[in-house]
Amino acid sequence: MLDRHDNELTAWDRDHFFHPSTHMGMHARGETPTRIIAGGEGVYITDTNGRKSLDAFAGLYCVNVGYGRQKIADAIAAQAKNLAYYHAYVGHGTEASITLAKMVIDRAPAHMSRVYFGLSGSDANETNIKLIWYYNNVLGRPEKKKIISRWRGYHGSGVMTGSLTGLELFHNAFDLPRAPILHTEAPYYFRRAVRSQSEEQFSQHCADRLEEMILAEGPETVAAFIGEPILGTGGIVPPPAGYWAKIQAVLEKYDILLVADEVVTGFGRLGTMFGSEHYGMKPDLITIAKGLTSAYAPLSGTIVSENMWQVLVQGSDRLGALGHGWTYSSHPICAAAGIANLELVDEMGLVDNAASTGAYFRAELASALAGHKHVGDVRGDGLMAAVEFVEDKDDRKFFDPSKKIGPQVSAALLELGVIGRAMPQGDILGFAPPLCLTREEADIVVKAALGAIETVLPT
Ligand code: PLP
Repeated sequence: MLDRHDNELTAWDRDHFFHPSTHMGMHARGETPTRIIAGGEGVYITDTNGRKSLDAFAGLYCVNVGYGRQKIADAIAAQAKNLAYYHAYVGHGTEASITLAKMVIDRAPAHMSRVYFGLSGSDANETNIKLIWYYNNVLGRPEKKKIISRWRGYHGSGVMTGSLTGLELFHNAFDLPRAPILHTEAPYYFRRAVRSQSEEQFSQHCADRLEEMILAEGPETVAAFIGEPILGTGGIVPPPAGYWAKIQAVLEKYDILLVADEVVTGFGRLGTMFGSEHYGMKPDLITIAKGLTSAYAPLSGTIVSENMWQVLVQGSDRLGALGHGWTYSSHPICAAAGIANLELVDEMGLVDNAASTGAYFRAELASALAGHKHVGDVRGDGLMAAVEFVEDKDDRKFFDPSKKIGPQVSAALLELGVIGRAMPQGDILGFAPPLCLTREEADIVVKAALGAIETVLPT
């Protein structure tokens, strides 16, 4: 039962709180529930009604170490007490921000050498775009500025990063995407147009489409390609076999930079420290955020390769100090959270657990749902998984989006005590639990997923 305080909060929420990614009218009119989250422990969160849910999406695939970790809370408190803030402009630093930079580079692929800290995945990708343009200006190639992203990619929701994002919801009525951003085909094997294609053939098709676009635009105008190692918000779609090798061959041919957006995959989610290692990518820039602090404090980063760094240095030797920075870049409280978080990731063995428990979870999910006539695809990698629903399996006929099958299944799942995410485009139920998930907890998620699917789509 809601107490008076909760009723008051709910009223304030509807009247004053402008929520992100929320149906504004329905929420303000009280047609959708307000859930006030009060606490969290391990993989569970609890709301003000005392209702506990197993959060199999780790917030927004970010609470990688799980909720309620004392070590991180203590590190934040100690930093706030000792030195809550000092900026990082003109060469200033704090012990926390410098130490975290060293820890990030120690964990990053060997050819990466510097990290620029921001606050969100969106602002880190915004930094990437500026660095890419700056880089080509320094190299005397002012026309080489276009950035190719992919349909269904997710890279943020700012003006430029929302343009990189390849999901209609994030473009509609916002006058996005903006030039010079282009989108090429999503590496979405389950939705391939030619069903007889093998994964390798489909990867070749994606690489060919990319090359056609580069040639049509003029390679001298294309600066960079950005992609998540595994598509996340666009549907949790692992790359088909051979995809990254074929894409990188095209990029190298035309001297185009690669940005690996590892906001979701950085720091262990795929069972390796970075998704780039997992899929053999050699990026020039890596975007990090969520897993850097497990969302205990907002912190993101742009990791820069040594090659690119050398060009950026030439730029400031010629142009002066970098004209780019946020007040809160490398905020010491967030950096302290990051240090404690990365230490916990090591101490708890979470990268290995993402590999082993992830493999167990995905195998159990696939076997539980194997015979279901409306489950068209069960896929994933590490501790990321998705179930895609279809009206007809043999014809791969999708449901009419107005039926909102995905949201219905995630609502039914919540009733069974588990949080999964209805991905925004398509009828797809996504899972990305905290990396500390145990096999017993994985079993709970699988059982609830089966129950929710049978409730909404009885066989
Ligand atoms: N890049 C990827 C791959 C993401 O998944 C997200 C957010 O989910 C972002 C960038 C944007 O991060 P933020 O929401 O912190 O701006």
